[in-house]
Amino acid sequence: MTLQTFRRETRNWLETHCPDSMRTRMVPGEEINGGRKRLGRNPEAYEWLALMAHKGWTVPTWPVEFGGAGLNAEQFTVLLEELQRINARPPLGGMGVSMFGPTLLEYGTHAQKLQHLPAIARGEVAWCQGYSEPGAGSDLASLQTRADDRGDHFLINGSKIWTSGAQHADWMFCLVRTDTSRPKHEGISFLMFDMESPGVTTRPITLINGGSPFCETFFDNVQVPKSHLLGSLNQGWSIGKRLLQHERSGLAVLANGDRAGPLERILPSQRLDKMALSYTGSMRSDPSLRNLIVRSEMEKRAFLLTQKRALEESESETPGAATSIFKVVEANYVKAQLELQLLIRGSQGLGWEGDAFTEEELTMCRLWLEAKSISIAGGSNEIQFNIIAKRVLGLPD
Ligand SMILES: Cc1cc2nc3c(=O)[nH]c(=O)nc-3n(C[C@H](O)[C@H](O)[C@H](O)COP(=O)(O)OP(=O)(O)OC[C@H]3O[C@@H](n4cnc5c(N)ncnc54)[C@H](O)[C@@H]3O)c2cc1C
Repeated sequence: MTLQTFRRETRNWLETHCPDSMRTRMVPGEEINGGRKRLGRNPEAYEWLALMAHKGWTVPTWPVEFGGAGLNAEQFTVLLEELQRINARPPLGGMGVSMFGPTLLEYGTHAQKLQHLPAIARGEVAWCQGYSEPGAGSDLASLQTRADDRGDHFLINGSKIWTSGAQHADWMFCLVRTDTSRPKHEGISFLMFDMESPGVTTRPITLINGGSPFCETFFDNVQVPKSHLLGSLNQGWSIGKRLLQHERSGLAVLANGDRAGPLERILPSQRLDKMALSYTGSMRSDPSLRNLIVRSEMEKRAFLLTQKRALEESESETPGAATSIFKVVEANYVKAQLELQLLIRGSQGLGWEGDAFTEEELTMCRLWLEAKSISIAGGSNEIQFNIIAKRVLGLPD
């Protein structure tokens, strides 16, 4: 099929099938991240998910056998453009499609791929990430959670922290220590297991914004079949790092043009200059505020153009170390833009609850607080700078 025909057919299909409410900006609480423990509020989002999954377009570049559509890079770009043309929402998000699935595609056995990928593509299973521990965040390779070899299974004991969505997840992918006698990077393995396994418990952690997006997760003699090891024993470090590249590219909206990402979520209902006029009535006479708004808009535009160029220039479909640059720039932009909104709104931007504030003011206040974590999640900015120095610029250790 020529690219032109593909575009025409895609456009027709989307025009016919995309529900009206899915052609609007993402509304918090309507996202679908897979699984059945946390349901999105809009039933049409599930219709949209089912239709897109049937086409293989929740994970368009994955092979058809594993629930994708097997699109090449050009077709994928066309699909993204056509989705953007009608302002369509992404049908499915979450760690399964953005982080774990791509990693499993690279390292999994055929049986593991068949077990997990189609269910991820249909949005049936939610995954969470068991990496960080109380004593192992930036220095992840110091992790202590053990998986002892017990013949046909591993026995896991230990705990993880900051496990996003663990209370809603069906499965976890996890880094565990399988050999304590080797140097720390060489004794780590990558396991997958069902969160319903006996001995797994989660305890939500409440954030400064009042939400509980992540948990402490405890493992008490959790049995995991040997078939749930990804890659070879003690080779989990390189797989775990590869997954982080997918995570960072997802956070930086590089991989899939994700329209539910941070850049979308922080958009106010009005343009910043209009917002300034309605709150202060004085933007025209306030050069410093005008400068801040123009600078913010220019930074966003530069970011999006650079992102587009990087995607077009990239010879591989998978993200590399340069992803860290986008992650840092985006995290800083998002935090600064929310500070700017707060500056414009003044005390109206600091509402926690009550009729004196609009819904947008209340939402943005909590988002402003939540966004403080964006330069920590997925590896802090300082760690990204280390990666950029070593792996992108080739500077010595
Ligand atoms: C919103 C959010 C979601 C998260 N979700 C998950 C999840 O789902 N699963 C999961 O496993 N983890 C998750 N995390 C944890 C996250 O990966 C860690 O918080 C992060 O890696 C930092 O580790 P830490 O908190 O232990 O801080 P530390 O490693 O203790 O770092 C403290 C400070 O020291 C700095 N620092 C540390 N080492 C260096 C160095 N070598 N050079 C320069 N500076 C350094 C850091 O930049 C930071 O400022 C999440 C975190 C957040 C905020």
